[in-house]
Amino acid sequence: MAETSESESRKLLSRLQAVMAEAAAGQERLDRITHLIADSMKTEVCSIYLLRDAETLELCATQGLSPEAVHVTRMRIGEGLVGRVARQARPINTANAPAEKGFRYMPETGEEAYSSFLGVPIQRLGELLGVLVVQSKDERQYSEDEVYAIEVVAMVIAEMTELGVFVGEGAALSARHTNQVMFKGGTAQEGAAMGHVWLHEPRVVVTNPVADDPAVERVRLNEAVDQLRTDIDQMLTHAGKGDKDQAEVLEAYRMFARSRGWMRRMEEDIERGLSAEAAVEKEQSSARARMETVPDAYLRERLHDLDDLSNRLLRLLTGQGNNTGAEMPMDPVLVARNIGPAELLDYGRRLKGIVLEEGSVGSHAAIVARALAIPLVIHAKRISTEALNGDPILVDGDQGIVHLRPEDTVASAFRDKLAMQAEAQERYASIRDKPATSLCGTTVSLQMNAGLMADLPSLPSSGAEGVGLFRTELQFLTRARVPRRGELAQLYARVMDAAGDKRVIFRTLDIGSDKVLPYMKPQDEPNPALGWRAIRVGLDKPGVMRMQLQALIRAANGRPLSVMFPFIAQFDEFTAARDHLMREMDREAALGHVLPSDLQVGAMLETPSLAFAPHQFFEMADFISIGGNDLKQFFFAADRENERVRRRYDTLNISYLTFLEQIVHRCAEADTPLSFCGEDAGRPVEAVCFAAMGLRNLSMRPASIGPVKSLLRRVDLREARSVITEARGTGAQSVRGAVMDWLKRQA
Ligand code: PEP
Ligand code: MG
Repeated sequence: MAETSESESRKLLSRLQAVMAEAAAGQERLDRITHLIADSMKTEVCSIYLLRDAETLELCATQGLSPEAVHVTRMRIGEGLVGRVARQARPINTANAPAEKGFRYMPETGEEAYSSFLGVPIQRLGELLGVLVVQSKDERQYSEDEVYAIEVVAMVIAEMTELGVFVGEGAALSARHTNQVMFKGGTAQEGAAMGHVWLHEPRVVVTNPVADDPAVERVRLNEAVDQLRTDIDQMLTHAGKGDKDQAEVLEAYRMFARSRGWMRRMEEDIERGLSAEAAVEKEQSSARARMETVPDAYLRERLHDLDDLSNRLLRLLTGQGNNTGAEMPMDPVLVARNIGPAELLDYGRRLKGIVLEEGSVGSHAAIVARALAIPLVIHAKRISTEALNGDPILVDGDQGIVHLRPEDTVASAFRDKLAMQAEAQERYASIRDKPATSLCGTTVSLQMNAGLMADLPSLPSSGAEGVGLFRTELQFLTRARVPRRGELAQLYARVMDAAGDKRVIFRTLDIGSDKVLPYMKPQDEPNPALGWRAIRVGLDKPGVMRMQLQALIRAANGRPLSVMFPFIAQFDEFTAARDHLMREMDREAALGHVLPSDLQVGAMLETPSLAFAPHQFFEMADFISIGGNDLKQFFFAADRENERVRRRYDTLNISYLTFLEQIVHRCAEADTPLSFCGEDAGRPVEAVCFAAMGLRNLSMRPASIGPVKSLLRRVDLREARSVITEARGTGAQSVRGAVMDWLKRQA
């Protein structure tokens, strides 16, 4: 076989382009391609295997193997040499295929006669679509150039598959992006949503993978890269000196944009017949493939940068971009690989749901989604390559499941679920202004958690009596710099205005651990959840906390003020934080500002140690709030963000309930009001058990107030208490079974 020189690979590509230009059915096109490749490369066999489903490859066209085997021969990913190419997503090039590990003889194809084998994956942006194979009788290794030529052809086939070129009568393939696909991810914000896909970053479609004139393509590439460099330089100037981290990322971009290796590889691709955009995409594909395999987080991050840069370049080259002309649907469900908190806030409550390929429960995006009460599913692998703008989509945030382009039966079952939820909402609305008083006459005060100005409008409609926890970190997380005192004072004042005479408990900044500020140098800590976070940062570097306290005092401007310090682990941390607040009160008074009419200073009980603090602590605190999300993770030593363990221990575990009961007693001794503001307070069964253990104040997401109140009003807490005591006597690990049985017996 002759050496396939660069110009020959270009010849092969232009012949391929000619075939594509002819009118033909999908299958015929595939047949012509195999014929053409075998002819150009002078191999006896050329075959195209495409994915039938996620696990199965099917021989879809062949030149040289038995024609009867087409659409009959199938193999699983990993099976035989073809399956191995698919699994490794890397070429296999061997002179003696039958001697290779994993070789599987397939009689229907008659392939035992072929000794040499070259298989390359057909993939698009890291997504495997099939395998392209050439085989010859003579025992020879294919040259680097030949491997390259076949890889480039495979890429063009992938591009055409994406464009639906092989779809049609007697089709080799069903059209892509038309079938129902289910994604099983993780849940980061509960709730159900039904809507249509809105891609955060619309996919760029390359319609012209092959080009005739490399000189023209080189010029196009160079112009686009120049533009990209100018854009990055401008962004760097804008980022300014204040924004060190953003500048660092941009510097990395600039470095890539000037990388000679990157440019050289793309120019070589163009030389071999690809268009400028196809060359960029080829580089992007290989960066994505590497991304999946690099264990080093830093390197992965850099590959991410490269991916982002390639996207920008593709947009420049194709003129496609965020303004593709697509209109946002009325019921948008945002689909993205990942998204930052500020961008998510820009979309705001318009979104019905959010589906991400990456992300984590504690990511900033998840915090914002939670604050906005938008159902969020994370780790929905590959959804951003599968979904198209406008596709119907169902998001089940409770199960972490997403149905893309659902079939009618699935959609109607989902609609029933939503209808039931809506019915329940009506029931909740009817008790909105009634108290959460149980059958035995005990009233539990229900408050809401908030973190954004945007949350406040739900205060009257939720039926909450006040804001039991206002998380202040969101204003810090979503900005590129520390917010100014004036800005904060204004925002806090507006929050108090919106709450009217209802009380708002402001929690001072809780950062560190999972909540890393964009402008704060990340601390490389072995266990961030146990590290330098929340009040520990506030006390060691009090500047920001003091500024925040001043803003709160000014915002109150003569009104009552409630301040709560997070993550207090021992008494002296509380006294130290409280001293800061008192000093700020004195300073503000000296500056002539009006002081709050009443000041309540509380602590969050989030570490078991604080439950055993001296009596004086309980005396000094004006109120205490149990941060159950953290308390539970430390009580059971089970990371709240680790999917493997975070659900391992039941909240209704008898040890945990007993512990909560002890906290209730300690607060009662000192006559200190106690509340519970972790997520568990918003789960109706948990809320009933907490109330049965003596908690009289629960703070939760606004959407949970209805369901919790509804259940509390239907039960007798004394009975609940005896069910728990009885279950405890049986040695049960959790009281959930007993409580659920008892609840079922209720009307
Ligand atoms: C908690 O830990 O329960 C809590 C309310 O605080 P956060 O979830 O913000 O850590
Ligand atoms: Mg906490």
